[in-house]
Amino acid sequence: MDIKTAQILDGKALAERILTELRSRIQVLQTEVGRPPGLAVLVVGNDPASAAYVRNKERACAKVGITSFGQHFPTDTTQVELDQVIQALNQDAQVDGILVQLPLPKHLDAVSLLHQIDPDKDADGLHPVNLGRLVRGEPGLRSCTPAGVMRLLEEYDIELQGKRAVVIGRSILVGKPLALMLLAADATVTIAHSRSSDLPAITKQADILIPAVGRPELITADMVKLGAVVVDVGISRITDTVGSRLVGDVQFNSVREVAQFITPVPGGVGPMTVSMLLQNTVLSYSKWRPDAPKAT
Ligand code: NAD
Repeated sequence: MDIKTAQILDGKALAERILTELRSRIQVLQTEVGRPPGLAVLVVGNDPASAAYVRNKERACAKVGITSFGQHFPTDTTQVELDQVIQALNQDAQVDGILVQLPLPKHLDAVSLLHQIDPDKDADGLHPVNLGRLVRGEPGLRSCTPAGVMRLLEEYDIELQGKRAVVIGRSILVGKPLALMLLAADATVTIAHSRSSDLPAITKQADILIPAVGRPELITADMVKLGAVVVDVGISRITDTVGSRLVGDVQFNSVREVAQFITPVPGGVGPMTVSMLLQNTVLSYSKWRPDAPKAT
């Protein structure tokens, strides 16, 4: 195969299109439901990266017509206080999605908070019930970053059936749910991780290579099969002679010479994640249509 340079998988442009579609859908649904959809984002403490992520999410909500119920709590907020906030949001008929922005201050138990969220309002798709639905292949709210990766692959008609997909990283946030989604799409899936031996031997087998590690430029051209599809989930901030900037897990300039498709960082998976968060919120919201099937 003769690859000149890889085609860019443009997550930014696709995410914009998804937001436009969601906006139109919300306009129609709103006349039936009688209120706009609502997303509650809980932030505790003063992590600067979290603040930037939350601003991003709120801006996207405003673009499509989702009301954001942002709640910012001081660092010393207790677990019991947050449990009570989540219980109230579970009951609040204006709120369709709830998420707790990570990281949390050390004294708080993020998993326990996640368990409190009504699975039907779990906009991040990380509640055990929704992960269980994913394992079983049942409909449910899907984890946003893996869902964004799958949507991007679908948009560019990338064949997955029978292909060798390698996911690097086994987190509950990205690696594990992504591997399950690729499996559901009939790929032959390998999960590599920090204890895998001979990573290059594994990555070189991949028709679809998806690193989700958080190590700047871990993946170099010699680790990539000619003609592979490379989707870079990693985001790290580095400071070098060029200045401070975001980079992925992939050495973009060298890998684009061997890959057939590649995502940039930023502008690849990141914007897709936000669009899937809003899509999950609208999915929960659409259950309030008068003619929507009722849960039994
Ligand atoms: P994590 O730290 O929970 O998991 C990292 C995984 O990488 C682990 O499973 C570990 O086994 C594996 N790993 C670590 N070192 C490795 C090595 N040398 N070789 C192979 N595997 C190794 O991180 P996470 O929450 O899954 O996030 C991963 C990356 O994706 C981070 O850079 C994060 O910022 C980014 N991320 C991006 C988005 C997005 O929207 N683009 C969303 C979530 C996370």
